[in-house]
Amino acid sequence: MKKHIVKIKSIKRVTHDVKQFTTDKPDGYDFKPGQATDISINREGWKGEERPFTFTNLPWDDDLQFVIKGYPEHKGVTNEMHQLKEGDEFILRDIYGSITYKGEGVFIAGGAGVTPFISILRYLNSKNELGDNKLIFANKTSKDIILKDEFDNMLGNNFINILSDEKTDEYAHGFITEDFLKNYIHGNVKYVYLCGPLPMMKALKKQLKNLGVSKKSIVEESF
Ligand SMILES: Cc1cc2nc3c(=O)[nH]c(=O)nc-3n(C[C@H](O)[C@H](O)[C@H](O)COP(=O)(O)OP(=O)(O)OC[C@H]3O[C@@H](n4cnc5c(N)ncnc54)[C@H](O)[C@@H]3O)c2cc1C
Repeated sequence: MKKHIVKIKSIKRVTHDVKQFTTDKPDGYDFKPGQATDISINREGWKGEERPFTFTNLPWDDDLQFVIKGYPEHKGVTNEMHQLKEGDEFILRDIYGSITYKGEGVFIAGGAGVTPFISILRYLNSKNELGDNKLIFANKTSKDIILKDEFDNMLGNNFINILSDEKTDEYAHGFITEDFLKNYIHGNVKYVYLCGPLPMMKALKKQLKNLGVSKKSIVEESF
């Protein structure tokens, strides 16, 4: 497996616990929207600690971009990444990923599980092909919503938020339920794209089955 050392060109805060990293792009490093790679930090003690992260910009951009949630309590790679400065380096590996766009449908994300959908939705937007694609985005509170303004602008009413730990006038409250999904998902939905923590994915797959969505319509990745 080839390793690519890339320099971090800029770091931007996206939410209270999410940062966007822009890095150099190795020659011929071609990804499809939704795909990911294993990254480690190019520093003694961290080079062998690989974790998966998704490309969030467009395949033809000159740089690579990652949107990464930090977990200080793990004292692992994401915590260390959040301490990095411009000029520090990542080590990237092969490109892979099970989520790619197959056709119009409903995207359902939990927290940082939205990252594969950032690139896919930006890609569709750049081609004026967003159509009636919907994004249902589950978070704990409104301050956890990643790229809220951008999704609002891209998707309008097709950007649907649900918050488990905060009540607002704007968004639904609680966990995603079958009743909630019924508003957006009907038996004839062609594709449902799922990405989030394993327990959320398990619950959603059960609900989708009950709503008549076939297994082959589900495109998924668990985080
Ligand atoms: C294909 C793929 C693409 C991904 N893309 C992205 C992305 O673009 N952006 C992004 O933010 N995330 C992404 N993720 C998730 C990301 O890889 C993880 O958040 C990351 O590996 C965590 O690394 P860590 O070293 O901080 O934590 P680790 O120490 O590796 O922890 C890994 C897991 O261990 C458990 N754990 C460890 N310590 C604790 C603790 N103290 N308390 C509770 N649980 C604990 C948790 O279940 C945690 O998820 C992706 C995951 C996959 C599978």
